[in-house]
Amino acid sequence: MSQQLSPHALLALDQAHVWHPYGPMPGTATPYVVESASGVRLRLASEVSGHRELVDGMSSWWAAIHGYRHPVLDEAVRDQLGRMSHVMFGGLTHEPAVRLATTLVEITPEPLRHVFLADSGSVAVEVAMKMCLQYWRSVGRPAKRRLLTWRGGYHGDTFHPMSVCDPEGGMHQLWGGVLPQQLFAGEPPAGFDAEVDPAYAASLADLIERHADELAAVIVEPVVQGAGGMRFHSPGYLRLLRELCDQHGVLLVFDEIATGFGRTGALFAADHAAVSPDVMCLGKALTGGYLTMAATLCTSEIADGISRGEVPVLAHGPTFMGNPLAAAVANASLGLLLEQDWQSEVKRLESGLRNGLAAAADVPGVADVRVLGAIGVVQLDHQVDVRAATEAAAREGVWLRPFRDLVYTMPPYVTGDEDLARIGAAVTAAAVAG
Ligand SMILES: *Cc1c(COP(=O)(O)O)cnc(C)c1O
Repeated sequence: MSQQLSPHALLALDQAHVWHPYGPMPGTATPYVVESASGVRLRLASEVSGHRELVDGMSSWWAAIHGYRHPVLDEAVRDQLGRMSHVMFGGLTHEPAVRLATTLVEITPEPLRHVFLADSGSVAVEVAMKMCLQYWRSVGRPAKRRLLTWRGGYHGDTFHPMSVCDPEGGMHQLWGGVLPQQLFAGEPPAGFDAEVDPAYAASLADLIERHADELAAVIVEPVVQGAGGMRFHSPGYLRLLRELCDQHGVLLVFDEIATGFGRTGALFAADHAAVSPDVMCLGKALTGGYLTMAATLCTSEIADGISRGEVPVLAHGPTFMGNPLAAAVANASLGLLLEQDWQSEVKRLESGLRNGLAAAADVPGVADVRVLGAIGVVQLDHQVDVRAATEAAAREGVWLRPFRDLVYTMPPYVTGDEDLARIGAAVTAAAVAG
C-alpha cells in the first residue's frame, strides 16, 4: 500500500493532534518521519527529515535487540496472524502464552515460578506492587503497604510506578497529595566495579529495619538505573538488599524491564549478583521490540499467599492479556537470543563502545563516560540541547535521543562493527554539539 499522506501533511497533522512522549500540545519539535526500518537502519522521509537513513543507536528504547524486520521475527508474526491475532485470556488459553511463560520461568532465577503477562512495562510494575500488597493483606499484615526504593530510579508513568520514580526526575512536586508516599534511600553509589560503601549500606539497613512493619517491598532496578539517569551500581547492593529483606520480612522486587535479556552482559542483571528477587518485572526487549508486552514473575510463596487470602485471586486482567501475536514474537525473539552466543555479541558491543566513546571523555563539558554491556553513556555537566545533539548525531548517520544531561546509546545486538564505530562517533559529536 502506498503512503496516503505526504510527509508535510503528516507532520502538520502530527503536530496538531498527536501526543508524543513527554511532549507539549501542539508539538513544538519536528520529529523525523520514519517510512520503514530494517536491520539496524531507520529509513526516513528525507524531504522533511533532512536525512535518508540513520543507524539506530537506541534499539527503540531498549527493545529492538535483533534489529528491525528480522526474518525470523517477521515469520513468527505472520505465522501467528494466520491462526489468530488475539483472543481473550479469561477462560481461554493458548500455546504462545503458555510457551512464553514456561520459558521465562526456565531462564529467570530459580524461585520465580508464576507469570502474569501484562501489556506494558508500567502495568507489569503495577501488578508487581499489587502482588506484594495483596500478599501481605492475605497473610494478615495489611499495614505492610509502603514501598522503599532508592533515588535515581524509573519504574514507569502510571501513578503507582510514578510514586517510586526519582522524586525530582519523576516530578513528584507536581503530584503532591496524589502519589502514595513511598520511602526513599539515597542514590546507590556509582560504579559497577565499586566496593560496597559501608555508610550507604548502613543507611539502607537502618531504613529497612525502622520501617519493616509498614514495608511491603523494596523495588529497584538492578545494576543499571535507566531512564532515571543511566547510572550503574555494584551488584553488591543487590546482595545486601536480599539479606536485609530476608532479615526483616520485606519482599524484594527487581524491575528488569530495561536490563533484562542480556543488555548489561548478564541475561538478567540479577545474575551479576546471583541474587533472586521475590518478584521480577520484564518488558521492553521481551518481544524483540515488535509488540507491546511485559511480564511479572513471582515466587510460589507469594502466589500461595495471595491464593489463600480473603479474596483468593490476583484481581487484575487486562483486555489484551497474553496477546498471542506478542507472545509468539516474544517466543521467537527469545529463541533467537538464546540459540546464539549472545554473551560474545554483547561483549563485542561493550568493547566497541569503550573504544568508540573514549574520545568523548576529553570533550569540554563532558562529566563522565561509562559503558556496561551494550550500554554506552556520556554524561554532560549541563542539560543537553536535544535538538542540536540529535542533529549532530544524524549528520553522522545515527539516530540518538539524548535526555537531561545524557547522550547515550544501547544499540541492537546485531549492530556490525562499522555501524558501531559510527554510533561512537555520533555520540561524541552529539556531546560536542549538545
Ligand atoms: C521503560 C520502563 C518501565 C515502563 O515500561 P513501559 O512499557 O514504558 O510502560 C518500567 N521500568 C523500567 C525500568 C523501564 O525502563
